[in-house]
Amino acid sequence: MFPVMASTAENTVVRDVRLWTAPDHTRLVFDLTNTMNYKLFRLHNPERIVIDMDKVTLKSDLKKLPLPDPVIKEIRHGTSASKVMRLVIDVKEKVQPRSFLLKPMKGKPHRLVVDLMRPDKVKPNVKSSQPRNSKQDLIIAVDAGHGGEDPGASGPHNVREKNITLAVAKKLAKKINAYPGLKAVLIRKGDYFVSLKNRVLAARKMRADLMISIHADAIDVRSVKGASVYTLSERGATPDRAAKALAEKENASDEVGGVVSGQISDPLVNLILGDMLRRASLNSSQLMAEEVLNRLKNVGPIKYDQPKHARFYVLKAMEIPSVLVELDFISNPQREKKLTNSRHQQRLATALFDASVVFFRKMGRLKQAKSEYAQPPYRPMVSTINPTSSPNS
Ligand SMILES: [Zn+2]
Repeated sequence: MFPVMASTAENTVVRDVRLWTAPDHTRLVFDLTNTMNYKLFRLHNPERIVIDMDKVTLKSDLKKLPLPDPVIKEIRHGTSASKVMRLVIDVKEKVQPRSFLLKPMKGKPHRLVVDLMRPDKVKPNVKSSQPRNSKQDLIIAVDAGHGGEDPGASGPHNVREKNITLAVAKKLAKKINAYPGLKAVLIRKGDYFVSLKNRVLAARKMRADLMISIHADAIDVRSVKGASVYTLSERGATPDRAAKALAEKENASDEVGGVVSGQISDPLVNLILGDMLRRASLNSSQLMAEEVLNRLKNVGPIKYDQPKHARFYVLKAMEIPSVLVELDFISNPQREKKLTNSRHQQRLATALFDASVVFFRKMGRLKQAKSEYAQPPYRPMVSTINPTSSPNS
């Protein structure tokens, strides 16, 4: 019998390389056929990041990457006699690299993730953490679900949830910013990954008065359709299998998008918040959720006509009234098509916007504009009949 030797490690192949540009960093993701050993280091004058991958072959065209981007000038590669593949990333400024390997999960293969952080962009925004005066705008954190490496759900015609959520989020932000007294901040502005923890931190840092997370649902049964609205449930809330399953799916975002395990163990829930404040925020989240549902009813089908409650990680900034909206089922071919329709997206955004305005009014935080005094209850304001221009436009 032939002696069985410890097999000399087979070559690992890089099957694909993707690049995602975020405002504060650029992420490179390498799809691998297997795990591997690598070394990453910096070289200066000119600034370069070098990655040496042991026994690795590149079978993906680096030329297809959208380069240059704000961080990377270009990427070169070569292989040494000892089968080490060297990638040289020419960067435009001194960046802080971090990298990690990910095991296969949710249909994704072994991956190497390389983040090149821009130091001047990651400093905390001191200004935004100062106390706000009462004259300042009410801030709405508009959170487009998923992004970058994490596409979210996919429709039968391959429409990606991450693109729908961003399109609706941008339309919503535009409407909010055109309204005096309101200001929208997009948590994600493009196609890149933001961890759930960082979404929550961003909402806190901007001292948001309201957070709206936008998603689209998916299920195996293609006929299922309709919107649903969620708020955070605290321990002891009514168990609901569908809501729980959905929360698990949305919470898995981080694993798909590439967060090193252990990174989201941050005990946000244990932050010292007054119990009353917490409860007040949960109650107002419920009010907001009802307002959203009432308006979505006029735009399209509704899955559940009451707000549901589940433990969504992204809703855990418990001092901020927060809702998570599943716009519709992207897995339903008709609804998938509808979700890509710009006018339909606009109607969805308008529903979320109208709900926000009514919410703030009911909370006594937003006064009616003068032109509207004559005609309660609130009607959506058309910008052309409002002579006072927005401070943000
Ligand atoms: Zn989602």
